Amino acid sequence: MASFSKIVEEARLSARALLDYGDNLFNPTVRLGVTGLSRAGKTVFITALVHGLARGGRFPVFESLATGRIASARLTPQPDDTVPRFAYEQHLRTLVGERRWPNSTVDISELRLVIDYQRQNGADRTLTLDIVDYPGEWLLDLPLLGKSYEQWAAESLALSRQQPRALLAAEWHAHLSTLDPQAHEDEQATLTAARLFTDYLRACRDERFAMSLLPPGRFLMPGNLAGSPALTFAPLDLPSDEAGPAGSLWAMMARRYEAYKDAVVRPFFRDHFARLDRQIVLVDALAAFNAGPEALHDLEAALAGILDCFRIGRGTLFSALFRPRIDRILFAATKADHLHHSSHDRLEAILRRMLDRTAMRAELAGAAVDVVALAAVRATREAQVQRGRDRLPSILGTPVSGEVANGETFDGETEVATFPGDLPDNPEELFSGGFRGLSSTASDKADFRFLRFRPPLLEHGTTEEPSLPHIRLDRALQFLIGDRLQ
Ligand code: GDP
Repeated sequence: MASFSKIVEEARLSARALLDYGDNLFNPTVRLGVTGLSRAGKTVFITALVHGLARGGRFPVFESLATGRIASARLTPQPDDTVPRFAYEQHLRTLVGERRWPNSTVDISELRLVIDYQRQNGADRTLTLDIVDYPGEWLLDLPLLGKSYEQWAAESLALSRQQPRALLAAEWHAHLSTLDPQAHEDEQATLTAARLFTDYLRACRDERFAMSLLPPGRFLMPGNLAGSPALTFAPLDLPSDEAGPAGSLWAMMARRYEAYKDAVVRPFFRDHFARLDRQIVLVDALAAFNAGPEALHDLEAALAGILDCFRIGRGTLFSALFRPRIDRILFAATKADHLHHSSHDRLEAILRRMLDRTAMRAELAGAAVDVVALAAVRATREAQVQRGRDRLPSILGTPVSGEVANGETFDGETEVATFPGDLPDNPEELFSGGFRGLSSTASDKADFRFLRFRPPLLEHGTTEEPSLPHIRLDRALQFLIGDRLQ
């Protein structure tokens, strides 16, 4: 039988959906969710997208803009008064004015863009685009709604015993072995366990390991909840999956886990995720390639988890009264400007294959899923570099100050040519470990990561602000909102 709280939750959801629906009748609106794990490229993506729409970027594949049907796109006050505004102007200044990358997403934020356009039949119309930026770590929490503390603890422990995680979990595991779940509840032991568990999650996220599956998401992205009891718990090694005795450490951890779901996960689902119409999921696949097959398998599991989130609303959890409205989901491999264009299609193919392998696309009936490899801001140019008798397809860019490669430290001003290497034709090589990584410089062997380049230097004309160079950003836009501008 459905629990009372679930019925209340569904009633709240459907009331909200009705309100949104009413709004939408008079004022056609698309709520576009932009997500991805930390450093995937959300902030850069949104800044470039808004800039391109508002200033008329070079978007040949984004049909409504390319054919001149978009008259204007302007920022207006956002609808949700309790959600921080996306700091677009500040990010743009940093990106264009200072040629630095803006500060990354650490919390949810929102921005409203009103687009005046002409329909293909000539009628003038307005579309409101609400862009909602939120950490992918929070999205990966949604599956927790269907799991008890005992299930989650068992799964987290099993995962942490696989390599390379086991190595990173050693200190937490050592502390865990001193804890008796049946013993009396103990705040200090819980604080230590939560701290060590969080350190372990953070270490997994390090670029050398680039793990993706790291719930609970707020442990790494606490937002305004840092230090609260709802974020102070950790898995225990439990003797069974029954409930812990009253007053025990076990019961305390389980209570806080439930508090986390109530205070964090459910409100996120209800107030934000469930109200989205379209979703783009940004993926730093290149970071995973460079970290090796374990990171790729982990990324694949995270993608499966993400796809699960889109099923959640359609299936068991919030079934009868409410269904999520998301009808288009785009998975985008970011930072494609680190590769020569000859590898862009391969990057797309690899991401597509990872999603296919999760074998869940068919279950997303009602939502169209697509894949793209893009660079929201292209920081490199392409060139042929002569090496001996060979001419290598290379990329040119200015590494950020302090970057080091092959013993050389860059000053942030000098442009260098790098040969990024090709992605393998056969994606299996990536998963089997046969691929030895993409090299970071023209000179020799593969490094575990790419050089980070500064944003591009833009040619300022006399009157107009220049548009930002990109790769396939227009294709992403066409998929995400092109149909709403016909
Ligand atoms: P977020 O955590 O998802 O908001 O990630 P950001 O948008 O802040 O991006 C993280 C970092 O990735 C940036 O600081 C840049 O170094 C890099 N980055 C993001 N997008 C691009 C891109 O389109 N091209 C290049 N070259 N680097 C990018």
